[in-house]
Amino acid sequence: MDLYTEGDPIADTKAPDGPIETRWDRRRFEAKLVNPANRRKLTVIVVGTGLAGGSAAATLAEQGYHVKSYCYQDSPRRAHSIAAQGGINAAKNYRNDGDSVHRLFYDTVKGGDFRSRESNVHRLAEVSVNIIDQCVAQGVPFAREYGGLLDTRSFGGAQVQRTFYARGQTGQQLLLGAYQALERQIGLGNVEMNARHEMLELVIVEGRARGIVVRDLVTGEITTEMADAVVLASGGYGNVFYLSTNAKGCNVTASWRAHRKGAYFANPCYTQIHPTCIPVSGDHQSKLTLMSESLRNDGRVWVPKAKGDDRSPKDIPEAERDYYLERIYPSFGNLVPRDIASRAAKNVCDEGRGVGPGGLGVYLDFADAINRLGRKAIEAKYGNLFEMYERITGEDPYEVPMRIYPAVHYTMGGLWVDYDLQSTIPGLFVIGEANFSDHGANRLGASALMQGLADGYFVLPNTLANYLAGVGSYGKVDASHPEAVATRTAVEERIQKLLSINGDRTVDSFHRELGQIMWEHCGMDRTEAGLRKAIDEIRALREQFWQRVRVPGDGEGLNQSLEKAGRVADFFELAELMCIDALHREESCGGHFRAEHQTPDGEAQRDDDRFAYVAAWEYTGDQPVLHKEDLQFEYVHPTQRSYK
Ligand SMILES: Cc1cc2nc3c(=O)[nH]c(=O)nc-3n(C[C@H](O)[C@H](O)[C@H](O)COP(=O)(O)OP(=O)(O)OC[C@H]3O[C@@H](n4cnc5c(N)ncnc54)[C@H](O)[C@@H]3O)c2cc1C
Repeated sequence: MDLYTEGDPIADTKAPDGPIETRWDRRRFEAKLVNPANRRKLTVIVVGTGLAGGSAAATLAEQGYHVKSYCYQDSPRRAHSIAAQGGINAAKNYRNDGDSVHRLFYDTVKGGDFRSRESNVHRLAEVSVNIIDQCVAQGVPFAREYGGLLDTRSFGGAQVQRTFYARGQTGQQLLLGAYQALERQIGLGNVEMNARHEMLELVIVEGRARGIVVRDLVTGEITTEMADAVVLASGGYGNVFYLSTNAKGCNVTASWRAHRKGAYFANPCYTQIHPTCIPVSGDHQSKLTLMSESLRNDGRVWVPKAKGDDRSPKDIPEAERDYYLERIYPSFGNLVPRDIASRAAKNVCDEGRGVGPGGLGVYLDFADAINRLGRKAIEAKYGNLFEMYERITGEDPYEVPMRIYPAVHYTMGGLWVDYDLQSTIPGLFVIGEANFSDHGANRLGASALMQGLADGYFVLPNTLANYLAGVGSYGKVDASHPEAVATRTAVEERIQKLLSINGDRTVDSFHRELGQIMWEHCGMDRTEAGLRKAIDEIRALREQFWQRVRVPGDGEGLNQSLEKAGRVADFFELAELMCIDALHREESCGGHFRAEHQTPDGEAQRDDDRFAYVAAWEYTGDQPVLHKEDLQFEYVHPTQRSYK
């Protein structure tokens, strides 16, 4: 293709072989350890205080390392993870309904449409059971049954009930648990907490990650922070679409800056579009709101059978309703995975059967559940979600079905990491949503919290030790090292450049337009012609950005336009790579739906012969270089995914 070149294949050299159930144990045993007395001499930078970064920083400090922690919010506990609603998966099998580590492993590999690594996913399923114990010990108030056992509910892509939850606030409660652990270490002096600080660049010295350049968002001061290793836990990049369910601040800058310095970016086009979000209501909107997947436990999705039927839902008799998920996918019904449910919603709306303004909505109806279980039971399970819906839409979902539509929610792509979670830059580790993760081309609901906490509490603390055990030989470097000074100078120059353009368009206007291009051509379905058009449009808009953006104020203090401008500049470069990745992957898999590649009944058509690999992209400043990591399936055989 004219847009990239192909380089050497890449391999995950840290992945152990042998029986899959023994791999993680063996890796842990074979990994080198750091003597407790030596740990306090080693400093680790952790960027991010969400579930991944918060749990990692607390655990590393508990082990005795000196940790420097960074986030751009005013408090670590305001990280985006706090927004997670529905729950966290774990193969505890408390319900005795047939769950097991192997089943969670199987569901996740299949759910990801056979585009993830078996070894990683198995480890994730193994560790899932420890996460629940850890969080319970911290006092996380998971929902309980009458007898005291932890309660669980169903999430998409599984026929067992393995999702642990704390009402519709699971992320918040888990984050408070991690935050308390972090605070304990801050109190003990083992974690140096730097809230309201944004990482703007990665410092590499002699090929190794040795620090970061950060800007104090309140004073504008720029400093260089050095360490023996750097961990990025900076979250996902769904906000490249402008409108998404992510917190407004979520961005790609930390990952993108590392990418430009040599960290490969894997599968950037894999985006999750969540089926149950409050539909867009107009041009004024800057954010979309998720209605948790947990609602599909009891809510039934439907549209009128007839096109253009604009009667009130209450006036549409049962016989004239199409519960299309239950009809098309009788085995999984309303709990099919997100990619499937989103496409099905789009299809019925494209047929002219959508509801609400513009016909871009489907109903999520609780009338049956309220009749069966009573309003009180529904309130207990979903009360806060119903309240949120009513506040935003002015409609009472106890009386009128919710209206929902798919929206950008999560990014499966991210920085490439090996089994040890180390990127292609030695000493740079990436965890949580920021790495390309274990979810393949589609993440199952309630598995992001599981992965973030698995990485932070259990995986990284082992694998990072293996790296740190060898760093003594690399010697200490400080911020006066010429490579560190050059990095900091480049950051200062970039800020000055953004401030000096003084053009006539706001940062937001560029971001909104970029988002529209991405949603139209690299969103729910993608075509070769659309993606090529998007690349041209992104390039033209990026050029305009660097000529016409207006960033008021200066860099000497709080300046949110400046913060946004830097992030949007990085989104432009990422957006182009996402489109190139989507264009080169001439197959459909999970959330990546190429309209040219679908089965006769409209499902994603994979091409395992040509595309059973991770696409790891190298930044060159010119055309990106593609490195392929072949995926092997020994335990779960790739088949056409079916939820029928
Ligand atoms: C509305 C909503 C509901 C969800 N519900 C669920 C659910 O029920 N179950 C589930 O499993 N998943 C859910 N998810 C997904 C899940 O919440 C996220 O994938 C997960 O919380 C990401 O955690 P993280 O620690 O990787 O990153 P985040 O929580 O996004 O944290 C990122 C951290 O990095 C910091 N950071 C970023 N860039 C910089 C920088 N340049 N400099 C300094 N700091 C930086 C931020 O300040 C922040 O502290 C939901 C997502 C959304 C949007």
